Amino acid sequence: MERTLCIIKPDGVRNKVIGKIVSRIEDEQFTILGMKRIRLTEAMAQDFYSIHSERPFFGELVDYMTSGPVVVIALEHESAVNHWRTVIGATNPQDADEGTIRKLYGKDISENVVHGSDSVENGRLEISKFFTETELIAQR
Ligand code: UDP
Ligand code: MG
Repeated sequence: MERTLCIIKPDGVRNKVIGKIVSRIEDEQFTILGMKRIRLTEAMAQDFYSIHSERPFFGELVDYMTSGPVVVIALEHESAVNHWRTVIGATNPQDADEGTIRKLYGKDISENVVHGSDSVENGRLEISKFFTETELIAQR
């Protein structure tokens, strides 16, 4: 089974759509292996998005990601990475398909409510930043 990391970003927590997003996760047949509400430190946000450290939006991205609590959720599904990316939609909510989480609840290309890993390898790596192996509990 494949794994991916979902983060409900600070705007999602502020706008009280945690429940709607978790409900969608269940409707889409993901198994929630682990879930916690945490606040990222600046160092954690910088590390998580280090691939974007040279991009002009990096500073704003780190400020946004540390602006309030987030919910990190480790997901399992036959096709976890691609299925979750399909459910959340394009990075820019304006370009996202109807019915996707970013289209429904996102504001703009920076405040786009949710994260999804972009590969199986990154999914494993990102999950390991927030969960120990014993915190990840399969359904059966
Ligand atoms: N982002 C931004 N401005 C941009 C592109 C991205 O603020 O022009 C933010 C946005 O929150 C996005 C995150 O940086 O989700 C990571 O960007 P990436 O290109 O990896 O998009 P994602 O994988 O999240 O769809
Ligand atoms: Mg990405």
